[in-house]
Parts: sequence; C-alpha cells; structure tokens
Amino acid sequence: MALTPPDAPAEASNVAEPPADNASGRTDNVLTAGSGFDSQRALRELFTSVSNRDALGQINDILKMRSAPSAVMGAFPPAGDLLADLGSNIQLAHGPGETRHDGPPDIRLAQTGERRRTGDRNLNGGLTPDFVKEIKNTYGVDLSIRDGKYNLSFRADGIKHSIPLELPLSSDSLPKIKENLDQITQKRIKDIEAKFGITIKSPDQFAGNQDDLCRADKGKRPLENPNDPNAIRSRQPSLPELYALENALAASAPSQRTANGIPLEVTFADRAPLKDQKGESQNHLASYLPPDGPNDKAKLFIYPAAAKSPPTDRDTRRPGESLASTIRHEIGHNQQFNAFPDGKLPESVLNQLGFIQFANPKFPDRGESPYNYAIQTRDGRFFARSEPDCKSAAGGWYQVDREGNPLGPNGEKVSDPTKAVKMKDETMDRMSLRKYPTGYYDSPLEVLSEGFAAFTGSAQSRESLRIRFRHVYDALQTVEQEQQRAFDRKK
Ligand SMILES: [Zn+2]
Repeated sequence: MALTPPDAPAEASNVAEPPADNASGRTDNVLTAGSGFDSQRALRELFTSVSNRDALGQINDILKMRSAPSAVMGAFPPAGDLLADLGSNIQLAHGPGETRHDGPPDIRLAQTGERRRTGDRNLNGGLTPDFVKEIKNTYGVDLSIRDGKYNLSFRADGIKHSIPLELPLSSDSLPKIKENLDQITQKRIKDIEAKFGITIKSPDQFAGNQDDLCRADKGKRPLENPNDPNAIRSRQPSLPELYALENALAASAPSQRTANGIPLEVTFADRAPLKDQKGESQNHLASYLPPDGPNDKAKLFIYPAAAKSPPTDRDTRRPGESLASTIRHEIGHNQQFNAFPDGKLPESVLNQLGFIQFANPKFPDRGESPYNYAIQTRDGRFFARSEPDCKSAAGGWYQVDREGNPLGPNGEKVSDPTKAVKMKDETMDRMSLRKYPTGYYDSPLEVLSEGFAAFTGSAQSRESLRIRFRHVYDALQTVEQEQQRAFDRKK
C-alpha cells in the first residue's frame, strides 16, 4: 500500500522560534509534514500530521489543555515495566532518586564523542567514541562505565533507567555488549507482543513504498514494489521506542485489538513515509493503515524520527509531542476502524464534531474509502481539506457543497479544488463551527484520534477534555461503545 502522511507532533524548538525567513510564521516542520485530510484516502490512510496546522496556534491549544502543568506531569498511567525481567545476568537500577554517576572522565568524553576530539584512543573497558555512538544510534541507550561495570541507560517516563552488564571491562567484551542489547531488545519485543496481542515486524522486510509527492508519475506508480528506490523496510526498534510503544499500548488497550481477530502489526520503518520538494520529512512519527480486506492486517508504522522523540508524555513539557502520545493517536484510528469499518460515522458523532460526510466518487478504486468529510463553518459553509502536493505537503481548505463538489466564488460548482474558494488554516481556527482540543482537526477521524490521545493520557488531560471539549469527549464514548459491540459480536 502507499504510505502517506503520518502523525508528527510539532517540534517544540521549531514552534518556539519560527525560522526568520518564513514570512507566514510557519515552520519547516509545518511545510514538510504530511497532509491530514486527504479526501481521496480519508479512511484508507488514517494518517496524520499534527504539525500541518498553524504551529503556534496548535501549541497554544496544547498549552490550554495543560491548565495545571505540574499536575498534568504528575499523574500518568503506569508505564510498562520495561526493565523488569531482562535476564539473570542483568540487574536493575533505576528510580528518580538515584545518584548520578556517569563514570570516569574518559567515559564522559566517549559519550560526548566528536565534539570533544577524543580521537580514536581506547578508553576504559575498551570503549571508543565510535562504539559508544554506534550503541546509541542502534539501541537508543547511553553506554558508560559505572561502579566498575558497563552500564546502559536511557530516559523514559521522566526517569533514568539503567542496566548494568556483568561483563569484564575489556575490548573483548564489546561484541558481547551488542549481543546483550540484541537479546534485551528481542525479549522486550516478545513480551510486548504477548502482553497486547500484537505483532512487531522483524527487521529488513519490505514495508511499503515511500510516497514521493514530486514524482511525475505519482498517480501511476507501482504500489507494493520492493525494488522501488523509495521502498521502506522494517528495522529493529530502539529500547526507548519499545518503552514508548508499551506505555502507549498499556494506556489505550483494548483498542489495539482488531475486530477481525488478526493482530495489529507494528512496523518500525527505516525511512520516512513522505517526500516533497524539501526532501524527506523527518517529522513523521507514526501512521496507521486499516486492513485492506477481511484477511489483511491493521498496521501501525513508526518512523525513524520516533527514535529521537521523547518516549512518553512525562519526558516532554508538551505531552502531545511524545512518541507514546502519537502512538495512542494511531491506536485511536484502530478504535475508529473497529467501530465503523466502512468509514461511515453516525450523524450524532458528525454533529458533535461539526463535520459532514459524503460519498467518495472515486470509491471503490484501490486505496479509496467510501466516505469523505468536510468541516462546517459558523456561517453555514463546508470546507474540505486541501490535498498534499509536491510544493507543500498540506495546508488550507477549499469550499464544497454537501455532496463534496468544489464550489467557486459565486457558489457555482467548479471542476477541481484548485478553482474553489479557499480558506487558510488560521481563518478556519476562527470560523469552524466547533472548537477542537488541538489544531489538528483535518477530519472527524483526526479530531477523534486527538481526543483519544488526550483521553488515554493523564487523568488531568482526560478531565480537561471532558470539561473543555465535551462534544469530543461524548463522541469518543460513542466510538468506544461501537467498538465494544464489534468485539462482542466476534466472541
Ligand atoms: Zn491521525
């Protein structure tokens, strides 16, 4: 299948300081992130890009959600016990009260790597800057020597997790460090699979084709072509990514289940899903694809940018930017698919969320969903989300009638969206009939997923959703009840 726009929280650094050469105030992140509402594939590719809206407005919304920041940060669902059972030769040492001790100066030099010009001389225990860097890049952990032992560590859930390794301090141990890390990673994968009834795709397998918005033959490109230069392959996840995945699944279960009984497949992808004229976007964290038929799997993709993201809501001042939050958003799409497999939302939910739905004229072409959606404005008009193109992956809205036909300035039908009346994102923020928890409201499905991520976050984020966005909260209840009915029917 085509992999298209994904979910990617706005990056805090970008948002706080928009590039000076960007007159619109949008960031690179905004320009390169994937489209949200893709009217050709709204259900088929329930993907997203949190950052395809006015980023500052979005962050304002996130901050509004966090009316009590310290409380928000203080009450998250328990994270998975990532380090609970790593094997007999590995002891655990983690906790918020631990003493920081990062080993002798040589090792700190090794960790800071190139910046300190340590050259290639051997450090304690045979560690070299290159080896320490390789371990960090491959497994997402810091390698140091602590209390006379090799020590692996990473931050997640607001605390530093440490794994001492019982190996002699010698360069002969370096291959064994990798072996240990591979074993730890594989054990975590097996545990998460067993605990949540999902599968994690093993590395180096074809995982779909990258969507290149600038390809001339974009509409005709072969799908499912492993030899395509844009092919995406699966990779081994880092330990912080697995931590984030477990954290998100623990908070969102049972919505990771599927109504067809085929386990959700999680793929850690080695490439971003989307390219535009600015190149390969590094902002895409994750995306979701519903099954393509009764025998197909529902799929959750996690992209390379995830390895550099804060793992959980507790690891960032803006919980909505964490990898776990993005994964919960994607699980929300799985919940929607379980509840409404044909993409048709009930009128009650559409009314609550301020959208209309209409038949997609391109259905049942490959990759097309039966329904598309448009947002309702306060003055009674309807607007669909603009399609991504080579120049800009997303942005803006165009006017449609109740059947989804593009409308020109005099209310006349026009041949295609480029000729229709447009509305900017900033204007839509003011004009939409309903208000939304975040700036990512390209379709009712995205509103529901953003709501689901808040609902499954902290007790405070759930309560904030209930109080400030009751219409979204109530719509989520309907989706959850429908999902439960679907599960019950399969029993
Ligand atoms: Zn989404």
